[in-house]
Amino acid sequence: MRAADIADDLTDVLVTQEQIHDKLDEIAARVAADYAGKDLLLVGVLKGAVMVMADFSRALPELVPMDWMAVSSYGAGTKSSGVVQIRKDLDTDITDKHVLIVEDIIDSGLTLDWLLKNFEARGAASIEVFALLRKPDAAKVEIPCRYVGFDIPNDFVVGYGLDFAEKYRNLRDVAVLAPHVYA
Ligand code: IMP
Ligand code: MG
Repeated sequence: MRAADIADDLTDVLVTQEQIHDKLDEIAARVAADYAGKDLLLVGVLKGAVMVMADFSRALPELVPMDWMAVSSYGAGTKSSGVVQIRKDLDTDITDKHVLIVEDIIDSGLTLDWLLKNFEARGAASIEVFALLRKPDAAKVEIPCRYVGFDIPNDFVVGYGLDFAEKYRNLRDVAVLAPHVYA
């Protein structure tokens, strides 16, 4: 479904499906060049990164393995607390692998900060981050992010994998959720 189908629930459409796909092609070309000849492993963070991983991995010109982590960051309210719990660990041993973490969004950065430290302890050859979206004004910690799709304002957004209470993940575009929806 497109943003126009649920216009009442949204304020601004920040990134359209077409813009996302163009950007994924561009980043896939960069990743293919940067990792030529290297043992690359894509690691997606469930559930938000499912759509990015599906489209990004297929935009790559070579076969690449992928694995998934599920983490929950809990604490008061809807904001990330930085206290992270692993709900599903990797199936892959990442020792000596070149890991590229695929994320939907960097908001406070606390989840990725924790994940990067956790991965560093496992002996990967390198660890980099690709985030489709980033909210620079929300950063509580700076994340070294090698590939960024779009910098967006500090608003709550949904679509393309991002949810509010498990809803809106299958929206094709990324849009700001209207305040009346969560009021
Ligand atoms: P963090 O604040 O960077 O730790 O973000 C943790 C996770 O919260 C992200 O990976 C998203 O899954 C989710 N999240 C952050 N901002 C938004 C948003 O605007 N809409 C939906 N989910 C979000
Ligand atoms: Mg996420």
